[in-house]
Amino acid sequence: MTRVRTVAVIGGGIAGPVAALALRKAGIEATVYESHPTTADGVGGTIAIAPNGMAALDIVGAAAPAAEVSWPVHRQVMTVGRKRLDLPGLAGAGPLHVVQRSDLYRILAADVPIQYGKRLVNAVQGAGGVTAAFADGDEIEADVLIGADGVHSTVRRLIDPAAPGPHFTGMVAMEGRSPLTVPEEPGTMIFAFGKRGFYLYGPALGGGTTFGVNLPHRPLTVAEARAIPSPRWKETLLEVYGSDTPGGDLIRALPAEELTVNGALHIMPPVPHWYRGRMVLTGDAVHAPSNSSGQGASLSIESAIELAQCLRDIPDVTDAFRHYESLRRARVEKVAARAARTNSVKAPGPIGRALMPIIMRAFMRFAMNPEKVIGPEQRYRIDWAKTL
Ligand SMILES: Cc1cc2nc3c(=O)[nH]c(=O)nc-3n(C[C@H](O)[C@H](O)[C@H](O)COP(=O)(O)OP(=O)(O)OC[C@H]3O[C@@H](n4cnc5c(N)ncnc54)[C@H](O)[C@@H]3O)c2cc1C
Repeated sequence: MTRVRTVAVIGGGIAGPVAALALRKAGIEATVYESHPTTADGVGGTIAIAPNGMAALDIVGAAAPAAEVSWPVHRQVMTVGRKRLDLPGLAGAGPLHVVQRSDLYRILAADVPIQYGKRLVNAVQGAGGVTAAFADGDEIEADVLIGADGVHSTVRRLIDPAAPGPHFTGMVAMEGRSPLTVPEEPGTMIFAFGKRGFYLYGPALGGGTTFGVNLPHRPLTVAEARAIPSPRWKETLLEVYGSDTPGGDLIRALPAEELTVNGALHIMPPVPHWYRGRMVLTGDAVHAPSNSSGQGASLSIESAIELAQCLRDIPDVTDAFRHYESLRRARVEKVAARAARTNSVKAPGPIGRALMPIIMRAFMRFAMNPEKVIGPEQRYRIDWAKTL
């Protein structure tokens, strides 16, 4: 029988609510504390959940509702200028599921207690538990505290003040739904290397074309990015993508006010300490592999569930956290390393730009071997029924 009875989960994004769902399934009381004042209804862009992420969501009962509101991607194509390459899929692995972020949050939050407007500012550990302090002056106690508070995690600094922070990838993300249609089958996603930047697009559910850009840019915060008026962002996008086909036309046809600014894209370097005492990290707080992996959300869901499984089966908290790290570290660092290679192709430095034709040929060859490249990522399955 586990000694952990109560868990405070900091962060109500993806990893936090999934951890709480899995803990409650394991018979452990869990409450989520989220800094935003309200739910994320209608806010944010889209996110693609990989087959491994859907399989993990199934353990907490969220895969079917997520699939219902998603757009399945059955075909992926890469274009480099006019060159077009069908990316072979993983046999029998199932599609990617593209879902509105706010829909996923709503599904995950339906069955867990979440307190909004609770920004964690400090946590103090005692012999048998943790006292968490919030910006509004409230304090709560729990046996264990999980930091699922994203790439700029406060809990990561509380665990280790010298912990590394996220690295900026050199790109800013934006997305929109252009009224233009593209001559592609529904369920197709195109990954396009334009003349000066990377973008992706595909036919949108209900008409038009969904597109997203990874715009090469100087670092800036989400607040700074959103403070720039959308007509100004549209001009910048046209400077970079204006002569790309169909990228330039998709952007020109989109009313500027319908552009969603997601903000700067980050990647986490390896984090030396995943836990200390009764505090532990999960999700982007400890392993954000950047959007280029297509795995950030899926790995967050997996880690949250495997952490809950360790707390369910291993009575000593330190042993449970040690086992959790041993299950997850190599896997998540490998995915981040793959994504870092992709980032260097999307946003090359001066030497990278000169070597781009050679790099691109190697990159395309690499993409043609999905079983080796993404097979281990997407075929991963958690055995929840197994006792650790
Ligand atoms: C533009 C973009 C596109 C992406 N596309 C994909 C994709 O297609 N597929 C994919 O798998 N991944 C994608 N990702 C990555 C994915 O979004 C993340 O990996 C995932 O959201 C991580 O979930 P999380 O719960 O760990 O962190 P988050 O989703 O960042 O949630 C953290 C939560 O903690 C809260 N919080 C922060 N600090 C505190 C505090 N002190 N106190 C209380 N609460 C706090 C935040 O408000 C937030 O709600 C993308 C990321 C970006 C930026």
